[in-house]
Amino acid sequence: MNDYLINNDDWFHEGGSAQLYPILNYDSIGFKEFSSKKKAEYARKVQLKLSKFDLAPKVLSKTIKLKYAQSVEGWNPEISGWGFVTELAQHGTVSYRQIQNLVDKIWSKAALKFWDCHYSNIGYIKRKGKPKVVCIDTGKESFDGYANAWSNPDPGPKCCYCLKYECNCTDY
Ligand SMILES: [Zn+2]
Repeated sequence: MNDYLINNDDWFHEGGSAQLYPILNYDSIGFKEFSSKKKAEYARKVQLKLSKFDLAPKVLSKTIKLKYAQSVEGWNPEISGWGFVTELAQHGTVSYRQIQNLVDKIWSKAALKFWDCHYSNIGYIKRKGKPKVVCIDTGKESFDGYANAWSNPDPGPKCCYCLKYECNCTDY
């Protein structure tokens, strides 16, 4: 198997489709846990596809369960739900233009529509010393849909009618 253990005494993030845990003794990778094996496999497959174009963090394991490290605080579950080990992305501010650029690349490279492209699903990874904007929530909910937070019929913040950001032309 592998030697990774979930660090149960450190931070964890509850995201849209998954929970993210730190891994003991590593600071640039984490474990993404899902509520079912099917959901984990879907998200892993999409992340793997996007990561080939640096549009998502790297996938670093198969769909697995991980053991927890011995907790110093007492609460000590034995084993996680299904998930996978991932490169960690950093949070930071992104502009509408950067979001649209990511959404457009995900469509042109991977033929996927990244509907749920709001700020908390977007992060940065470093490549050749430079930050790259990436999708950090590759669960089914992010890619299923027909409209987004901006009510556009194409994914992303740019209006597909007038090509402006923050437009009002679809309000009526
Ligand atoms: Zn418009």
